[in-house]
Amino acid sequence: MDGPVPLNKRIIQEAGACMRLAYLRVRDREKSRDSELSAADEIRLMCGNKVGQKAREQFPGGKLIQADNFAQALLATKTAFDSGEVILFEAAFAFEGVAMKADILRRRKDNDFDLIEVKSGTDPNNYLEDIAIQVWILNNLGIKARPYLMVIDTSATIKSKSLFQIIDCRREVRELIPEIDSRIETIRAMVLAGKIPEVPFTRSCQDCDYFGECLPGLPDHHVFTLYRGGKKIDSLLKRGVLSLESIPAKISLSDRQSIQIQTIKSGKPWRSADLRRKLKAGIVYPFFFLDFEAVLDPIPEHPNQRPYEIMPFQWSCHVQRSANSELEHYEFLMDRAGDPRPVFAESLLKCVENSGSVLVYSSFERTTLKKLADALPKLKSKIKRLVARCSTYMLSSGTTTIIRNSKAHSLSSKSFLRWFLNCRMRI
Ligand code: SF4
Repeated sequence: MDGPVPLNKRIIQEAGACMRLAYLRVRDREKSRDSELSAADEIRLMCGNKVGQKAREQFPGGKLIQADNFAQALLATKTAFDSGEVILFEAAFAFEGVAMKADILRRRKDNDFDLIEVKSGTDPNNYLEDIAIQVWILNNLGIKARPYLMVIDTSATIKSKSLFQIIDCRREVRELIPEIDSRIETIRAMVLAGKIPEVPFTRSCQDCDYFGECLPGLPDHHVFTLYRGGKKIDSLLKRGVLSLESIPAKISLSDRQSIQIQTIKSGKPWRSADLRRKLKAGIVYPFFFLDFEAVLDPIPEHPNQRPYEIMPFQWSCHVQRSANSELEHYEFLMDRAGDPRPVFAESLLKCVENSGSVLVYSSFERTTLKKLADALPKLKSKIKRLVARCSTYMLSSGTTTIIRNSKAHSLSSKSFLRWFLNCRMRI
């Protein structure tokens, strides 16, 4: 390879968690560049663009660097930089193969710069390494930059002057620079050595793009499937335990983990002995099975809406009026512009009537209703009465963990409904 190994912020940050991952990313650089974005990535990107646009509005007169590729962006940045532009958006820089684009770069009177990284998140601690890498590049290019993070202020409303809080992170970045410096050096040495580094496996591996490559041929009931395994997975991996069947007897396991392993060994599914009793307790006909869909938008558009406030836009309700009655289904979808909350709540209140048990899958529906009660004072007491009728049937109630095919499942809302109705019929 001619010249320094090209790196980007993602690789340098991922190397902090796993050096092997950084190595594999560099190896597959071309592949990952061409890989398609997932729907979730696209939504994140759209969201980030929307927030970036909003942030720029706070810096009038800034010049946006636009180019077809990174090389052209570097040239356009240099031209704008040399001509004394005060505010640049998306200015491109690279030092020894490490590239970046600065969200906002503002020239100060002393000719130093404020480097402002815009994030659609709310916790600045998540972005310190990101901005430290940018400062590392700029410092090496001889540009003095004071780092700031511009994150969403969750207390903002449409009436607020700004949607953001700007956080001075000079001290944190100063402390991180030596770590970034040595990490870049280590990645480069590792890539030049041309040998995939050996690293300890951890529970994070299961979410990694290279899970299959790093851990090929895992048994069906591998250790990563341990129910709510958490740190226990790390410690089992450290001991070289890869299958659930081979977990040593002296390892302490939770009740559900023990049941999971017991079913693997016996090959028979397990069902809680008092499941029916728990299901029966405290619920009365008619049953209303509720399910909500909602969005969390970083940019508020309606009065009383804060960034990332739960904005429910769809509900679905299956109603069973008696043990042998057919299911009825009702639904609502906000299919027009405007604040969805009032129409959502009014239509829902009409559907769930004034008596009967309301069964919700998790705490999400209840939390959403409580938020709605706060946002809609006129409906507050009615919504609160509805909250009081809600029963949660997910894991917290201990009723729905079914061990099937030797894996612990918490049933989805729809499969639970199907199963619950079968079960009720036989109660
Ligand atoms: S699977 Fe684990 S060890 Fe392999 S690259 Fe990913 S995080 Fe690193």
